[in-house]
Amino acid sequence: MMKQIEQIERLKREKNAIILAHNYQRAEVQDIADFVGDSLELARKAMGTTSELIIFCGVDFMAETAAILNPDKKVVIPDKGAICPMAQQLQVEELEAMKRRYPDADVVLYVNTLAESKALADCICTSANAREIVNAMESETVLFGPDRNLAYYAGKTTSKKVIPIPQHGLCPSHHQIVMSDVIEAKNAHPDAKVIVHPECIPEVQDIADYIASTSGMVKICKMPASGDEFLIGTEIGLLHRLKKEAPDKKFYPISTTAVCPQMKMHTLEKIASALDREEPEVTVPAGIKDKARRAIERMFTIID
Ligand code: SF4
Repeated sequence: MMKQIEQIERLKREKNAIILAHNYQRAEVQDIADFVGDSLELARKAMGTTSELIIFCGVDFMAETAAILNPDKKVVIPDKGAICPMAQQLQVEELEAMKRRYPDADVVLYVNTLAESKALADCICTSANAREIVNAMESETVLFGPDRNLAYYAGKTTSKKVIPIPQHGLCPSHHQIVMSDVIEAKNAHPDAKVIVHPECIPEVQDIADYIASTSGMVKICKMPASGDEFLIGTEIGLLHRLKKEAPDKKFYPISTTAVCPQMKMHTLEKIASALDREEPEVTVPAGIKDKARRAIERMFTIID
């Protein structure tokens, strides 16, 4: 492993490259990255970098977002098979049909969508700002996709009527976290606070002490007054970052099976190869890119 790390460090210097990694990446990938964060933080970091080559250790829609926001930079994903199943669940045809059915409704799409869907949205959101973005829409009814659980959260925390598109969009990894897991974990650690991602099912959200995006979870867990022990309801990769950034606190996964196989596809070997060969490159067709960029930039205008 040391040899690969040295090779990655050398190639990074030679090529003026930056490695961005999502919170759900393997521990060794997080450790080699220049920056680790959630999709919103990674998008911002990609925009702020002076590096010409971005090695993006996340799933397809995240790398696409980085490519959309950085037309002058080269975005490379170490394994092109890292495809988010949730992003695939929203088909453009269904979105167009719902827009025709609800012509007055604004369309807010989770960043976990493909670029062609983003191009049809009024605004993009992440789990860190879904409530704020939905609230900022002018229409009383908002079409929201593709995660029905995040749609539930947005509907519950705003005064808007939020209609999920599609009806059954979900993240397979978060969907595995069920009530019996929370009860079992709580019995084992009765003093621990329950903190879950809004991609979790409504029943799990409803009994949690905190609902937050992964970056929100890190922030909450690091606060001195938030507690000393936490039951974490998200993909287990986040525990590596939590343990590193709050070493004096205790973290337990609510479900050890909440693993995203697509996020784990990037390895040190693939990162070294991506740096060396500068491929596979992530590109987005020009027509789609411009429209998707408008919807993403509207998000930044609202939250900044
Ligand atoms: S954790 Fe869920 S939403 Fe995130 S990339 Fe994996 S499948 Fe997609």
